[in-house]
Amino acid sequence: MQLTYHPFELELKHPFTIAKFSRTSTPLMLLELKHEGYTGYGEASMVPYMGESQQSAADFLSKVDVSQFKYPFDFVEIIHYLDSIAPGQPAIKAAIDIALHDLEGKLKQQPCWKLLGSDPALMPVTSFTIGIDTPEVLIQKVKEAEACKVIKVKLGRGSDKELISTIRSVTNVPLYVDANQGWTDRQQSLETAYWLQEQGVLLIEQPMLKTDPDSNAWLTERSPIPIIGDESVQRLPDVEKAKGVYHGINVKLMKSAGMYEAHQMILKAKQLGLKILMGCMSETSCATLAAAALAPQCNWADLDGPLLTKNNPFKIPDFEDGKWVLGNDAGLGISH
Ligand code: MG
Repeated sequence: MQLTYHPFELELKHPFTIAKFSRTSTPLMLLELKHEGYTGYGEASMVPYMGESQQSAADFLSKVDVSQFKYPFDFVEIIHYLDSIAPGQPAIKAAIDIALHDLEGKLKQQPCWKLLGSDPALMPVTSFTIGIDTPEVLIQKVKEAEACKVIKVKLGRGSDKELISTIRSVTNVPLYVDANQGWTDRQQSLETAYWLQEQGVLLIEQPMLKTDPDSNAWLTERSPIPIIGDESVQRLPDVEKAKGVYHGINVKLMKSAGMYEAHQMILKAKQLGLKILMGCMSETSCATLAAAALAPQCNWADLDGPLLTKNNPFKIPDFEDGKWVLGNDAGLGISH
């Protein structure tokens, strides 16, 4: 098996502002694993606040011994091996895991979604995320979201009601909101949750600090709409801790260290009665198709990477009725 990789800067169509920061592009590491004439594609998306970089990814990859990956791949062993190289760094671990899943599908001549037990007919619609912006730009972004059946709005900078009212002045589509830990007062959060329900909001992501489970649990107990943990839920052991604190969890491949562990998180969440949102970072078609292979097992999907970026090096997958279409190509279905 042969591993090659190169850094890539994924550019956003608009500067993206959320409660804690703003950016115009996202550093990626794209990789290829070649074996028996097949190529598996992988991707690490390293948004700065997660602490990984193209340098840390390259350092990690320089320590990976590809002779450890023997087909058929034992993903339990593989994640133990990757975790033994260094703690943390879930995005670059995800890149390897995604490439191995793509490769496995190609070697077995089966689509990844089928190997993972997903039913394409159950694919949820994908939301289109709108960052914090001026009313003029917000209205422009709502127009760009026309192909989507749900819009996700970033809140948490103190202008929540104005933002929602601006969006409601131009569209009636259902909304998700993400406060990115930006809410501080319990009672005010609850009042906002009731107001958001009246505005057609279906769920609220990470309202309060991830380090304050008591306040998040307090709100979850009282909120009329589901409260979803995102920043507070990274890998498998965090799923158990989310029970009683949130109604559901946001699973992202770049937090979970890839598809194998994301699948385990989904199964665990179902066992615990937690709902699941399949989310993403700024990603190309590669990581989006990897997440889409698992999305039919989730309640909601927020896989808008290819819709928000402008230099995707891969072909954008088919998108119909607000949903990604899972095809019958072997592997993830990535094409150039
Ligand atoms: Mg979020």
